[in-house]
Amino acid sequence: MTTLTARRFDTGEAVRLQIRNGRIASILPAGVSAQESAELPFVGPGLFDIQVNGFHGIWFCSETLTTDDVEKVIRAYSQQGITRCFPTLITTSCGAIEHGLATIRRARENSMLVRNSVVGCHVEGPFISPVDGPRGAHPLQHVRPADVSEFLRWQQAAGGLVKLVTLAPEVANGLDFIEQVAATGVVVSIGHTAASTSIIQQAIERGARLGTHLGNGCAGMVPRHDNVFWPQLADDRLTCSVIADGWHVPATMLNCVHRCKTSDRIILTSDVSGFGGCRPGRYSTGEVAVDVLTDGRIVVAGQTQFLAGSGATTGECVAHFMSTCNTTLQDAWSLASSRPAELMKVAPSSLEEGSPAHLTVFRLQETTEADGRATRRFLPELSVVGGLVERSSV
Ligand SMILES: [Zn+2]
Repeated sequence: MTTLTARRFDTGEAVRLQIRNGRIASILPAGVSAQESAELPFVGPGLFDIQVNGFHGIWFCSETLTTDDVEKVIRAYSQQGITRCFPTLITTSCGAIEHGLATIRRARENSMLVRNSVVGCHVEGPFISPVDGPRGAHPLQHVRPADVSEFLRWQQAAGGLVKLVTLAPEVANGLDFIEQVAATGVVVSIGHTAASTSIIQQAIERGARLGTHLGNGCAGMVPRHDNVFWPQLADDRLTCSVIADGWHVPATMLNCVHRCKTSDRIILTSDVSGFGGCRPGRYSTGEVAVDVLTDGRIVVAGQTQFLAGSGATTGECVAHFMSTCNTTLQDAWSLASSRPAELMKVAPSSLEEGSPAHLTVFRLQETTEADGRATRRFLPELSVVGGLVERSSV
């Protein structure tokens, strides 16, 4: 049995949690003084990130991915407070996607930590816009028209673990793909797209329910009215994910997305790169070269304008969103815990007796900047991943 004493993320109340057999056995007032309570870390339902690409130089879409690699990355995530996730495979050959999915499936069979944490997989691409800009850092040679038979091969390799697919609805067969794949229960998301308003509206009509990292994976210059943003912001059937790392979308846009979609229809994701956690320097996937900069950004090699994934983790995005959109911790935290669980139909974790024990214990270090703004830094302390405890070394 594990016992934790921390402040609830929602009410701030100091509680003592007991965890037994992978569930919260009890949660009671800790009975500590106000001063002692203020010293305690927070505890919230475990962070759940639907878009994570790898870590420490390991990519889930690598042709040479091993089960040990998967476990290493999942352990690193848990040390960053991420208790559940969708490993994400980006545009590559069908064979490499199948290899990645089959390897993740085997890693789940071998490791309880991986099994508890990996509750689905996300395939982002390869059915995306070939155009520079919307395509982002996805390699052009592997971009191809939408193909349901290829999706079925992925699901076979994954043992049905693919729960989320991102595609550009304007690619050949894109709208039919959305309808057929959504009918299997998989969430289909719009992303890396240059679609018109009309195509986005048809995509939602045919079953798309998510917009992947709104504000990224799109053209740098767009028509002022007929573009990918307005139809995604305007339709309440669509939830949008945003990369709230402080680099991928400006504060003004984050605030507008929050006001349009409200906290009911936003998911925070890190989209952490396979080069997350790496020291500054130049790295290559074999197909794409990137620079990890000293300020934490990861960019296409040789320049500093075009980002190539994020170096931030989910908790850092929550802290940034909270400061930028002036929300409560409860509100911001739910966008990276209960909200993704609801959309992906994964059992939610909550601070209640009997709930599956997926918990993140963390501190928020608050700083007042020279211009008077309050900023917060996320400091993970410990994760409980389906009852398994992982301490943070950071
Ligand atoms: Zn992307």
